[in-house]
Amino acid sequence: MRKLATTFLLLLLGLTMQAQDFDKYFTNATLRLDYVFSGNRSRQFIAVDELCRLPRWDGKRQRLSEVPVEGNGQVIVRDHRSHEVIYRNSFSTLFQEWLSYDAAKTETRSFENVFLVPFPKDSVDITLELYNNRRTVMTSLTHTVDPNDILIRRIGSKPTPYQTLQQAADTTRCIHIAYIAEGYTKAEMPTFLADCRTAMEALFAHEPFKSLRPRFHVVAVKSPSQESGTSEPGKGIWKNTALHSNFDTFHSDRYLTTLHLKDLHNWLAGTPYEHIIVLVNTEKYGGGGILNSYNLSMTHHSYFKPVVVHEFGHSFGGLGDEYSYGNEQIPMYPHDVEPWEPNLTTLANFHGKWENLIEKGTPLPTPQPSDLDKPSADMSKWRVGAYEPAGYSEHGVYRAFPDCRMRTNANPEFCPACRKALVQLIDFYTK
Ligand SMILES: [Zn+2]
Repeated sequence: MRKLATTFLLLLLGLTMQAQDFDKYFTNATLRLDYVFSGNRSRQFIAVDELCRLPRWDGKRQRLSEVPVEGNGQVIVRDHRSHEVIYRNSFSTLFQEWLSYDAAKTETRSFENVFLVPFPKDSVDITLELYNNRRTVMTSLTHTVDPNDILIRRIGSKPTPYQTLQQAADTTRCIHIAYIAEGYTKAEMPTFLADCRTAMEALFAHEPFKSLRPRFHVVAVKSPSQESGTSEPGKGIWKNTALHSNFDTFHSDRYLTTLHLKDLHNWLAGTPYEHIIVLVNTEKYGGGGILNSYNLSMTHHSYFKPVVVHEFGHSFGGLGDEYSYGNEQIPMYPHDVEPWEPNLTTLANFHGKWENLIEKGTPLPTPQPSDLDKPSADMSKWRVGAYEPAGYSEHGVYRAFPDCRMRTNANPEFCPACRKALVQLIDFYTK
């Protein structure tokens, strides 16, 4: 009994301390940080573009200095006087992906990046860190922000029209998802809303989202485009759309992204948002997902539902791709470095990943089941292990299960390792 009482007291104390932390350092508003990341394979730069203030904070209010996944970069907020870390979040960027391509050896490019942090009450030092594929700091920038600076632009008082699709059970402790329209004209907004509902129901048909559905608050932001569809540079088609998205990103046909992060966040300013899902009004297959930045998916292809959920696995969960590119191997994961992605391992430091899901006696690496990729596969006989290939590599990077939403569009669900990681993440944001 005494032990129980002590635990209860500690829990109460813990909750009180967490709540005080937010109110001690932050006010219920968002500081939007716009940066330009530029450079090439050998030199990179981070520069501050603009600072904005949004009328409300929709992110986490507890565990402020922790991150659930490491990411390819982090934004770290320190109290200017005490140097204490008072907020931290992780992210990935298209800039870092571009650096992995050969073009970055000879060309220098710049990319927009936007991050949201709670609005500080007093001066803070903000550090941006970008990591290389060996998980060490590649480049960083620290700058001081005075919250009373008159040049912090106030935006979001007249938000883009939006519709609430799902109210969270507790709106003070939930995860905010915003669907945003890309390539839908004003007249096509009913189609956008129908596509949002299809995407939302697809997500909540997957565990663990299905069981934890009341912890999500979902809105649809009706950003109108001048023209319907999206740009397809490979066919010489360029459209005037709200977010200026296009296929052929980095000359990869089906890679659909937007480089216009400031436009994206300007449309969202003032709406309740943190995790962003861009729905693109096109029949052509494509999508992309970047951790804590956004994910983007086509809506009128037959694979819309699996793709929009897969991309959310990247952008929300930090899950890695569980497939390989055959001979076109991108050396994204050096085999002697453990990836931070919770569903990939090189077995360099497997501890803490999905080892507790593996039955005793299962060989590591684990041989593929003979019925893998057959429509008649008996998934109930599959077991958790460490399977090649994964993480774009034929060898040396492993996934947990024969198939998963992060591996193929045919598989109906997330594998046990992905489900475990997603539960931990949802708990991190909402418990
Ligand atoms: Zn998985």
